[in-house]
Amino acid sequence: MNKQMERETLASLHTLPALPYAQDALEPVISRRTVEFHYGKHHRAYVDTLNKLLPGTPFAHESLDNIVRRMVRTPGHNAIFSNAGQTWNHAFYWKSLRPAGAARPSAVFLGRLEADFGSLEAFTLGLAAAATVQFGSGWAWLVLAGGKLKVVHTSNADTPLTHGQRPLLAIDVWEHAYYLDYQNRRQDHVRAVIERLLNWEIAEANLERAA
Ligand code: MN
Repeated sequence: MNKQMERETLASLHTLPALPYAQDALEPVISRRTVEFHYGKHHRAYVDTLNKLLPGTPFAHESLDNIVRRMVRTPGHNAIFSNAGQTWNHAFYWKSLRPAGAARPSAVFLGRLEADFGSLEAFTLGLAAAATVQFGSGWAWLVLAGGKLKVVHTSNADTPLTHGQRPLLAIDVWEHAYYLDYQNRRQDHVRAVIERLLNWEIAEANLERAA
């Protein structure tokens, strides 16, 4: 491989972002063992697989955001889109959680939630419902869509970015996110994440950036 090619190959590589906290920081809601597998094996595998699939394709030099946004518009390349979506979603997911997450959003953000959902409680119930009704693997999200906060869920690697929505918070409801700790009790996992780990500060910062 010549120097030029080597530089291009390196420039195209997507990386596993550092976990924003220690692997045991989400205990007892999410165990160190779950994070070790989820971040260290699953998330890493999506990034590694994406990097293996990209060379020689039209996406080799595109940003991850661009690849993900083209997911629904470009036929074929399913493996690239799945791994790109999962690479994006997981980086966003880890930031959506926070050890000892703020129990309440700020007054400003609370105002937005109340305006669009009626109450904080109605929002958390809606998010829990979206996470629970998602059949099989997928994600539950708080998004900004058409100027309003909204709760949505997506299947497998799909992401709100491909639907023109701006993600504010994500909950991973693939079984690998909770099975070691909760087995089939997805609802218990989701409720604990919503009550104890949601990163309201990031949600608010994401909203400010999206507005
Ligand atoms: Mn996952």
